[in-house]
Parts: sequence; structure tokens; C-alpha cells
Amino acid sequence: MKRMRKPLQTLLIKPAGPDCNMACSYCFYLEKASLFHDSPSPRMSQYVLEEMVSQAMEQSGSQINFIWQGGEPTLMGLEFYRKCVELQQRFGRGQVVGNGLQTNGLLIDDEWIRFLKSYNWLVGLSLDGPQHVHDHYAGPGAAAVHGER
Ligand code: SF4
Repeated sequence: MKRMRKPLQTLLIKPAGPDCNMACSYCFYLEKASLFHDSPSPRMSQYVLEEMVSQAMEQSGSQINFIWQGGEPTLMGLEFYRKCVELQQRFGRGQVVGNGLQTNGLLIDDEWIRFLKSYNWLVGLSLDGPQHVHDHYAGPGAAAVHGER
């Protein structure tokens, strides 16, 4: 019986691994840095980026989404993402391509914003604020449900 191959739709990518320019006390991911014995600051190489984008575009259907997160994905630098878009265009076959960036925003400047806007990237900004801001939409007992103070 012939197996039907489901097209690839979404990739969740951590190009800088667990490396981050913040050290939130509640972060569940920073400790994964201990897995990278050789490099405390792992970075996806250009070779891996090209191979990944090439294979993803080949295996996708009419639409594919690349979600970039970490750690802090902006530690890769803007040129890494310019290259990424170039590769998506080079290996694309007319697909709709989406990109999403989850960031703490510390490195986002006007140049980043121009880039993100020009390619309509979806941006998730993680923001810590005072309790009255965090809890604005939380109902009574929400903190207890999540085990927070
Ligand atoms: S900004 Fe995010 S990834 Fe970085 S330390 Fe805080 S929770 Fe972890």
C-alpha cells in the first residue's frame, strides 16, 4: 500500500539554542545550555540554514511557516534572517511562506523593524511588567491555577 506523505506545514527553529541575553529566574530553557558542552553560545551555521530551508521548501505543500524562537533568536543577527528570506525565495516553488519571531525585544531596533515589516513577519514580544499589568485580564484564582505567588 502506498503511504501518503503529509506536506510539511510548520517548523519551530531555535537557531541560537538556549542562549539568551536575559536571565529570567523562571526560564525553563536556559539550563539546556549544559547540553552544549563545546559551545556555550550555539549558533546555527549557514550550511545548516541553507540545508534546512532547502529541504523544508521541497517538502512543503502550498504553504509553510518558519517560527524562530529560543533562547533569544535575534542573537543570530539580522544578516542571518536576511539570508533566510533569500533562501526561502531561492528554493520556493510559489508557496506562501510565513515567518514568526518570538523575541524579548532587547535587540530590536529600527533596522530590524524595517526588515520584519517589509516581509510581514509575525512578531511575538515577551514582555515582563508589573503585577497589575500582568494580571489585568486574569480572573480571580488565575494565579493559584498556574501555581504562581
Ligand atoms: S527572555 Fe525568554 S528565553 Fe530569555 S531568559 Fe527570559 S524566558 Fe528565557
